[in-house]
Amino acid sequence: MRQSPGSATIASQQINPPARLLMGPGPINADPRVLRAMSAQLIGQYDPVMTAYMNETMALYRGVFDTENEATLVVDGTSRAGIEAALVSLIEPGDRVLVPIFGRFGHLLREIAERCGAEVHVIETEWGTVFTPEQIEAAITETRPKLLAIVHGDTSTTLAQPLDELGEICRRHGVLFYTDVTASLAGNEFHLDAWGLDAVTAGLQKCLAGPSGSAPISLSPRAVEVITARKSIEAGIRSPGDPVSQSPIRSNYFDLAMVLDYWGEKRLNHHTEATSMLYCARECARLLVEEGMTNAVERHRVHGTAMVEGLTGLGLVLFGDQAHRMNNVVGVEIPDGIDGDGARSTMLNDFGIEIGTSFGPLHGRIWRIGTMGYNARRDTVLTTLAALEQVLRAGGARVTPGGGVGAALEAYADLATVAAGAGSAASPGGGA
Ligand SMILES: *Cc1c(COP(=O)(O)O)cnc(C)c1O
Repeated sequence: MRQSPGSATIASQQINPPARLLMGPGPINADPRVLRAMSAQLIGQYDPVMTAYMNETMALYRGVFDTENEATLVVDGTSRAGIEAALVSLIEPGDRVLVPIFGRFGHLLREIAERCGAEVHVIETEWGTVFTPEQIEAAITETRPKLLAIVHGDTSTTLAQPLDELGEICRRHGVLFYTDVTASLAGNEFHLDAWGLDAVTAGLQKCLAGPSGSAPISLSPRAVEVITARKSIEAGIRSPGDPVSQSPIRSNYFDLAMVLDYWGEKRLNHHTEATSMLYCARECARLLVEEGMTNAVERHRVHGTAMVEGLTGLGLVLFGDQAHRMNNVVGVEIPDGIDGDGARSTMLNDFGIEIGTSFGPLHGRIWRIGTMGYNARRDTVLTTLAALEQVLRAGGARVTPGGGVGAALEAYADLATVAAGAGSAASPGGGA
C-alpha cells in the first residue's frame, strides 16, 4: 500500500494528549490505578486466571450495585451498549414499553426501544424536573406495559429521578423495571435489590473513575427468565437438543442469553471478552468496594456541595429542581452577555480545564460542571472555581472577587469531618 505523506508524518508522532482536568458531565480523568490495570499484559480468553478475573468482576459489581443477582457482569462497549443489550434482550417486537422522559437520555431509551420493535409509550416532564411515583403509576395503569424503562440520573439536566418507590409499583402491576444508572452510580444512593429493579446498566466514565468502553449490567432472576426463554444458540457451536427460539433476540452481539452462557459455568464461546477493559472495569469496582459505596456517595455529596456553594458564591444561578439534583454534576445558567462556548474554550486553552455544554433546549443556556470519580476532590473544585472566576471577569460578568473559592472553603469547613475522610480516600496516585 502506498503511504501518503500525511500518514508518514503521523507515524512519527506518538499519542501524547495534553494535561486536562475534566470537570464536565463525563468522561472524567481516570484514576491512575485504573490506567495501570488497563496497561497490564493480555492473557488467553479461557486462561483460568482470565475466567477468575471475570468471576471476581461479577462479585465486585454485586457490591457496587448492592445486589445478590447472579447475572451481574460487564457488556463490552460504552454505556449505550449496556442499554441496547438490556432492551434488545428483554423486548420482543410488539411489546409495550413505557418510557418517562425528563432529559436527553430518556429520548435515547425511547429510540432504542422503538428500534427493538416495541410499541413505546412516553410521558414527558419539563427539563429540570422529575416525575412523582403517582405520575408513573398512572401511566402504567393506562398503558399496561411489559417494561418500564427510565433513566436514574440524566446528565443532560443534572437531575436524578427517585426510584425507591417504583419497584413496588412495577411488581404490583407485573411490569419489568429497567434503569440506566450510568451517570448516577457511585455518586448517589442506589440499591438494586431493595428498590426492586429487574435490569440495570452503567458505564465507567462517570463516578466509576474509568474510561468509557465497558458497561456493567445486572439482571434479576425474573429478567434472566424472560431472556433465557428466548435463547437460541449459534449454529456453529450448537449441540443436538440445544434450544432454537421462535422469537430470537434481534442482536447477536447484545444477546444476553448467549452472553450469560459465556460468563456462566458453561463458558460457551461468544465474543472475545475485551481483556484490557475487563481489567479496567475490575479495578474501578475494586476502588469503590475498597472505599465503601456509602463513603463514595458521601465523597461525591461533599465535593458536589462545595462546587454548588462556590458557583453560587460567584453569583451564578443554578439550573433545575435542586431537591433532585445529582450529587456529582450541577447545571449553572450562563450569565447574560457571556458567550458560553467561548468561555468554555478559554477555560480549556488557558487553564486546561474542561466544563460541559448542554444539549437540546438547554444548549447555550447552561453549563454543566461535574465533580465525579477521580475528580471528586477538594483541589479540583477549588481550581475550577478560581479559573471560572477569571474567565467570567474577563468576559465582563459581575462576579464576587474570591467569592467562588471562598464559599467552597466555607462549605468544606461546614462539612469538615466528613470531607477530611472522603478527601484522603481520593488522594492522587492512590495506593496499590
Ligand atoms: C453519560 C451517559 C451515558 C453515556 O453513554 P455512552 O455510550 O457511554 O456514551 C448514558 N446514559 C446516561 C444517563 C449518561 O449520563
